[in-house]
Amino acid sequence: MAGLYKLLCCYYFSIVWLIRSQLPKYYNKPMSEKHDKPRTFEEEKLQAEIDLLKSEKAKIDTEQARLDKENKLPWYKSERMIQAFIAGIVAVPLLWFFFKDVAMPIYQRENLKLAYDVEKVRIENEKQKIRIDSIQILMLEKDSIARVQLENAWDQLKVKEQEYEKNRNDLIQQNQRIIEGLRLKNQNDHKQEEEIKNLKDNIAQLSVSEIITNLPLKLNAAFILEGDGIEYWETPKNTKLFAAAYPDALVFHYDSGESLETSAKYQQADKTMASVHVLIGRDGRMIQLLPFNTIAWHAGKSDYKGRSGYNNFSIGIEFVNAGALTKKDGKFRSWMGKAYEASEVVELTHKNESQPRYWLKYTDEQIKRAEQLCQLLTQKFSIKEILGHEDLAPGRKQDPGPAFPLARFQERYLK
Ligand SMILES: [Zn+2]
Repeated sequence: MAGLYKLLCCYYFSIVWLIRSQLPKYYNKPMSEKHDKPRTFEEEKLQAEIDLLKSEKAKIDTEQARLDKENKLPWYKSERMIQAFIAGIVAVPLLWFFFKDVAMPIYQRENLKLAYDVEKVRIENEKQKIRIDSIQILMLEKDSIARVQLENAWDQLKVKEQEYEKNRNDLIQQNQRIIEGLRLKNQNDHKQEEEIKNLKDNIAQLSVSEIITNLPLKLNAAFILEGDGIEYWETPKNTKLFAAAYPDALVFHYDSGESLETSAKYQQADKTMASVHVLIGRDGRMIQLLPFNTIAWHAGKSDYKGRSGYNNFSIGIEFVNAGALTKKDGKFRSWMGKAYEASEVVELTHKNESQPRYWLKYTDEQIKRAEQLCQLLTQKFSIKEILGHEDLAPGRKQDPGPAFPLARFQERYLK
């Protein structure tokens, strides 16, 4: 580059020198032509001197011109022209060199650079455009894919939401059912507890006989009663069985024995020409002496509505009850002499008599047992009559007497 600057300097000075040599008259112009300002006296004086010198110089120049004309050289011998020529010869290759090797390459290079830049920008723009398009396409694709995915996800979400709702509802219903179940169970438990408590309370208040008589009766295949408070005492003296259609009647009695056991022993005894199927004690305990398919001897000579010999048709049920009582010195006594409280006695007229008498009441346990027996036996046999011994042998027999609610039993247990 240093060489280039030297060349440029040379060229510059040669150009300046050429111009300077060609413009001498400019410097000889009068001051008045250059300045329009009013002049001072000193200036005027100086101008006058300059003008004088100029006119003298003009005279000299004229003389010189005349002399030059006389001694005129051809143009190619002119010193200035030779100088200009030489300067031109030097300048042209320099200029050529400058333009060709320096300016042009620089220009071209700049142009190229610019073109490259433009091209680069264009390409970049193109690339950017493509990239944008690609991105747009990609975005569109992505959008469509994303939309599809989103729709799928949404559908799945909907399904899941529905499932969730269903499960939730099921769970709620299940819980409600469980809660309801628990509530009912609690209620039932509470009820059961109350019932158990009531039962316990009732049981606590009940006597043993009451507990026994509250228990249901069962009849086994041998026509023998089963259950708590029931005993079976075998009575071999009776062996004859009922005919196929019988028994069809129930007959109630009382036995004025001292207790259930003494009555049973008496009935069971071989020498006693009497027997009964079942005895009911004052406390509700029972002793069965004969199976219900076996004929007992409880009715004796008996007639009722044209039928006689009721032993062959009927089951005999006997209560431990003293029957009719006599009142003496304010006390109620049985024919055996046993005394009873007034609360145990009722004054009633027997249906076969005309005057009221005192009768020993049946206990609640006995009535309950009688009801249980009627229930059981009317189911087991086709019972058509429920009677008292007094109905079969009026005048001879008073049992079970007016203290026993026979009519109620007939009403309840006969179809
Ligand atoms: Zn009797």
